[in-house]
Amino acid sequence: MKGISVLEGKYASTMDLWPLQGKEFTRIWPFWENLRAGRFTSTRCVDCGAEFFPPRVVCPGCMSDHLEWFDLPTEGTVIDVTEEFVGVPLGFTSPLIHALVHVGTWTFFVRVEAEPGTLKPGDKVKLKVFEVDAMPAEIGRNVVEIPRVHYCFEQA
Ligand SMILES: [Zn+2]
Repeated sequence: MKGISVLEGKYASTMDLWPLQGKEFTRIWPFWENLRAGRFTSTRCVDCGAEFFPPRVVCPGCMSDHLEWFDLPTEGTVIDVTEEFVGVPLGFTSPLIHALVHVGTWTFFVRVEAEPGTLKPGDKVKLKVFEVDAMPAEIGRNVVEIPRVHYCFEQA
């Protein structure tokens, strides 16, 4: 089946939560290929050394586009937790658990798979990569499906 399964063939792209991932659509496509291989990566500026997460294709500090990929840790520590009970996006069940996590030198907000009410500050979490619906795309005269993955964290 081509399309986004949770949408049952309706609103194929406007309601799609998952980012475009093919080489044809984004210059950060290596992030998604690395993720598929279990690597959590981002980019660093070769000219000034600045590191970014999420990955960038141009350094905002020195405007260089000479960036290289590096690996981020795949484990982190929870700083705080929130559980979303209403307004959960299509395809997710309530509650949706989000946490502010420390991952190496980085701190960011991410969805965490955990039993509701159990995740707490100080808990260890680890990267989880999962398949999402392939994206139908027109390449030339053909409609192809571009496989996609995404990530969250889960209790370690
Ligand atoms: Zn730079």
